[in-house]
Amino acid sequence: MTACGCNRQTDELERQCPLCKEKSKNINFMAVKPVVKQDLQRFVQKDNYYICRNTNCDVVFFNEEENIVFLTRDIDMSADFSEVSKNNKHKCQKGCGGCSQKKGG
Ligand SMILES: [Zn+2]
Repeated sequence: MTACGCNRQTDELERQCPLCKEKSKNINFMAVKPVVKQDLQRFVQKDNYYICRNTNCDVVFFNEEENIVFLTRDIDMSADFSEVSKNNKHKCQKGCGGCSQKKGG
């Protein structure tokens, strides 16, 4: 059974975090831009980024090709952080690490 409904077909879109070497999932720049601090948004290119969900790691987003790394201190905490929250309280029991359960579900 796949009760969590998470996609497991995105293995190709994973990279290792440059800092902790954890597997990091692909994320579109459109999701990155609104949450980084304003003076850093110009560094966000129209490209794909990867998101490190390791709570012990300082890296939040990174882009290998452009050599860009956004750390936790580069993130605007007042922004809508739900997309990139490091505190995933509803972690999938199957350990996919990528699925987030909707509220009230
Ligand atoms: Zn990391």
